[in-house]
Amino acid sequence: MKDSFIQQGAEVLIVGGGRSGLHAALLAGELGGKPVLVDDDPSAFEGPRWEAVMALGARVMTGVRIGPWIRSWKGPVIMSPGVPPISWCGQAVAPPFSNIRGELEWAASLWERPIVAIAGTNGKSTTTALVAHLLKNAGFSPFVGGNFGTPFSEGVRLMRRSRQEGQTEPFDVGVIEVSSFQTESMQSFSPEIYLLLNITPDHLDRYDSLPQYRMAKLHLATLFSPSTTIVWNSAQEDWREWISRTKAHSVFVGSDRELPGPGIIIGEGTLRSEGLEEPFSVSTRNYPLIGGGNLQNLAFSVLATVLFCKKHHRPLDITEIEEGIASFSGLPHRMERVNTVRGVTFVNDSKATNVGAVEAALSGLPETGHPHVVLIMGGRDKGGSYRPLIPWLKKHVREVVVIGEAREKIREELGGAVPMEEAQDLFEAVARAFSVADSGEMVLLSPACSSYDMFHGYEERGERFREAVRRLSAKFGGEGRSHGAATSH
Ligand code: ADP
Repeated sequence: MKDSFIQQGAEVLIVGGGRSGLHAALLAGELGGKPVLVDDDPSAFEGPRWEAVMALGARVMTGVRIGPWIRSWKGPVIMSPGVPPISWCGQAVAPPFSNIRGELEWAASLWERPIVAIAGTNGKSTTTALVAHLLKNAGFSPFVGGNFGTPFSEGVRLMRRSRQEGQTEPFDVGVIEVSSFQTESMQSFSPEIYLLLNITPDHLDRYDSLPQYRMAKLHLATLFSPSTTIVWNSAQEDWREWISRTKAHSVFVGSDRELPGPGIIIGEGTLRSEGLEEPFSVSTRNYPLIGGGNLQNLAFSVLATVLFCKKHHRPLDITEIEEGIASFSGLPHRMERVNTVRGVTFVNDSKATNVGAVEAALSGLPETGHPHVVLIMGGRDKGGSYRPLIPWLKKHVREVVVIGEAREKIREELGGAVPMEEAQDLFEAVARAFSVADSGEMVLLSPACSSYDMFHGYEERGERFREAVRRLSAKFGGEGRSHGAATSH
């Protein structure tokens, strides 16, 4: 593996002291570069996890904020996705610089195996895990990571290590989640399959506008060659404009009877191919996940698996795919059933940090004919409108308990649609929701906001929710804990 970006013995500026920075520094060091670490908070590089990087002779730059370092650095720069470009180039999206690469883009350029990339506002992590699960079931050995889990640089490093040590390579495909922060400034990227699940408003606290956010995901289409297949969501209009601007092959996922091209149709209990060389139909009856767009995630994942098997000459085994569908347990904090206490089911969807995710959570719930959900929402506002939730609130939600910084805005925009009360913290919110909910109903944490006003992240918020439910079940008796995603049983 040769890297033309990093020269032997040359310094490479690593921006950002999170996981991407850490693994980029380790890989850069192994490739013969000398990591120079910079973060607005230089203490980010302290602690045992940085010891291996320091052992490479890395320098930590202090005293100046990141902007001047990046702007004046003449050698290679590797950026972490969490560093907002506004902080160093004064723009919401950085223009292309020949000496600057995002960590994921750089790692992908060094990865010598095929990539299945998963993009979209919501469902990326679930779909990434599901594609990897189905490919594993089909006999492949995926590296799973990127924006989700382990940074891609680490996958590249593990491959390199095993080759150096004369061992079999651990992976034959990269299943990689890509966020808009990782794609916005990409100059080259060539996955074999690019799943674009959906684009709905998000991150308007970092982007100037919704069109700019959409562009961060869509502009990749112009980078692809005919060896990439884009899987489009036919219900989202973007493909109409972009299909003529890409050299990539296009296929579709849709729930209508007709697709604009070859792909998969989501039907009652089945996924049916349309216009693909080898027709097939896959049962979804044993798929354990509900809500949150999970059926759509499944359709994308099955299509990716089918296309990948075809390209790599694996016979298509529908039974194997159906077994994989049935054995996928989902990810924590995404429509995760926590417990049922006195007949009230508690569902943790803490990862729903934007309105699109909450819409999907509610629209995916079974029709009961009357509102049966007490919804806990709120947190730090991300700049969009909550109003698209109104029809779903009216249909499914009996009351909203609102928390966090966004309380006022949510009350203003949604207060007229459903009864609403405020709580000071999540524990109080859970207690209030429990006192409102009747047996047979659901208390759903699906906040539509980020968690950073009260927590260190959505995981901590979800943990606190679980803790609050544990307390209730200790007091009133619960039916037992489940850590899978919410199921239809
Ligand atoms: P991401 O990695 O894109 O944030 P996750 O799989 O972590 O996606 O799910 C994030 C949130 O979006 C969760 O609340 C989940 O229930 C919801 N969700 C999952 N899939 C979809 C989808 N296809 N459309 C809309 N929302 C979804």
